[in-house]
Formats: sequence, C-alpha cells, structure tokens
Amino acid sequence: MIGLPETMHAMVLERQGQPLVYKELPVPLPSSAQVLIEVIACGVCRTDLHIIDAELPHPKLPLIPGHEIIGRVVMTGTGITRFKNDDLVGVAWLAYACGQCKYCLQGHENLCSNTGFTGYTVDGGYAEYTLAHEAFCFPLSREFYNPAKAPLLCAGIIGYRSYSMLPVAAWRIGIYGFGAAAHILTQIAVAQGKEIYAFTRAGDTDAQQFALRVGATWAGNSSDVPPQKLDAAIIFAPAGELIPKALADTDKAGVVVCGGIHMSPIPSFPYNLLWEERVLRSVANVTRQDIKSFLDAITQVPVTTDVTFFSLKQANEALTALKNGTVYGAIVLLMNS
Ligand SMILES: [Zn+2]
Ligand SMILES: [Zn+2]
Repeated sequence: MIGLPETMHAMVLERQGQPLVYKELPVPLPSSAQVLIEVIACGVCRTDLHIIDAELPHPKLPLIPGHEIIGRVVMTGTGITRFKNDDLVGVAWLAYACGQCKYCLQGHENLCSNTGFTGYTVDGGYAEYTLAHEAFCFPLSREFYNPAKAPLLCAGIIGYRSYSMLPVAAWRIGIYGFGAAAHILTQIAVAQGKEIYAFTRAGDTDAQQFALRVGATWAGNSSDVPPQKLDAAIIFAPAGELIPKALADTDKAGVVVCGGIHMSPIPSFPYNLLWEERVLRSVANVTRQDIKSFLDAITQVPVTTDVTFFSLKQANEALTALKNGTVYGAIVLLMNS
C-alpha cells in the first residue's frame, strides 16, 4: 500500500450497551469488488444509538459503526471499473444486496434477505479508513467536500423515501421528532409548497424554534393538537405512542409513515383512529434508486444542514448528545480533527 499507513484509528463497539473504544487497527485491504476509502466525515445517526444500546440485535462484533460516510477512494480492488483513486464517494446504510432474492428482483433491494448494512453487519465510517462495495458506493459532486453534508447520506435519504410514500396531494404534513431527517426534509417539502407541522418533545422550545427557522408553518409539543387536520404524517421519533397520536391528528384517507428503524411498543388504540381509510406504514432502509432520486432532488432544491461537529475520538460524547437531545439538527464526526 504505497503511501498509505499500516494502521488507522477507529471507534469500536466491542459489546452492546458499552461505550465505543478508541483503537488502533490495521487499515483493511479491499477485495476485488471493493474500494478502500479514506473517510473525511461520518454522520452520527439515531440508528447507531439503537445498535450500541442493543435495541437492534446481532450486530457484527467488534463493530465500527457509522453509515453516513463521505470519503476519498485511496485504493481499488482488482475488479473495480467505476472508481479510481481520489474520487469523492458516499457510502450509506445499504452495504450490499444479493440481486437474486424475490425482493431484489422486484426492485425492493431495501428488503433483501441477504443484505449487509454499513456500520451494523459490516464495518462503517467511525474510522479513518473503510471498505465499501463498488456497486453500493456512489459518486459525489465536489460540494460534498463539505463535511456538513454527511447527514444527507442517511437522514436526508430516509426522510426523502418517507416523504415519497405520501400522496402527492398531501399538503399539510406533520413531522413527529424534529432532528436530522426532519430539518432536511422540511426544506425540500416547503420548496414544493407543502406546509410542515413540527412536533417535538414536550417543552423543547429550542427544537420548535429550530423547526420554524428551517421553514415549518407550525411547531408544538408532541401532545399538542395541530391547528388544522393533517393530510399526512411522518414519525421519526422512536416513540410508539406517537402512532395513535399521529393517526388522531390526520384527516380521512391520511397516510402515516414511520421512518425509523426502531420504535418503543405501540399502545393499543381504538379502530376509529384508523377508520376512514387512514393508512399506517413503515419505511425500511433505502434503495440505490432512492439515493439517486434524493441526490437529483437536492440539485433542484439546495438544502443546508445544521450540524454540530465532533472529532472521531469524541464519538461517545456525540452519541450522548444525540440521545439527550442536546444538539439540534445533525451530528458529524470529522476524521482529521
Ligand atoms: Zn436480495
Ligand atoms: Zn441512518
């Protein structure tokens, strides 16, 4: 590996429920279908917390978390044709899909039965270097040299997929849980003429102000009744009790989408909340087509990300800040600070 170091620093999950450990590890070598990436920045996602806190089972262990990766290709496997050294690339949650199961064949690679997930079942971007499969890396424009754009690669895309599940005619849209995904999506939806109603933790006036600042029409506590019935709702907060609340806030034929990978148990609720053709659905992972559609969308509607930066070594502090809701918008780890 000419010009590359033998070892790298990484934040490693050795056991679920314990803090990450700062370690020095060998720089991994790519297989024929992989590229080695020098990580510039990696976003911190709520999914990382769910993995570390054991709310998502059976991660690879030890594991390097992180799936909102911006980096530079520094070495290519022997079979690589799409990328060369120095290309700027993004790596997201979907690390690979088999291409052969019934879900892949139907265009639902996000539901693949033989899939890998970055920073969950394969190592991710809380490290100075990481590997990625060529087919699941995507080229990034030069604007992505800005590390503040890392959260677009998960929060942005999952928010956009959730939004794409709403009827085109849905105008008044409730968003429950106003963090990284919500603040990116709000900018796109508002540019398309939608009204956003932002629901936050009770009394979190800072988050409510933040929502209004990025374009929400209204912001309140999650228990508040919105001034208008909603046409649709997206729930990003991992709180099951928000499902009956969002259904109650939503008009006839309204669609409620759960955008998170994990939620606390859903309390029972009367059928009349679902009655009148309301629809409740989840969104699971994203496809490569979602990523392409999202990257196209943000060339039409430039979005800004509100980001707090931490160094790689400070990943545990960053995760605590996310858990406690003490930062607004998104969190990004910078590798070279
Ligand atoms: Zn598959
Ligand atoms: Zn994520």
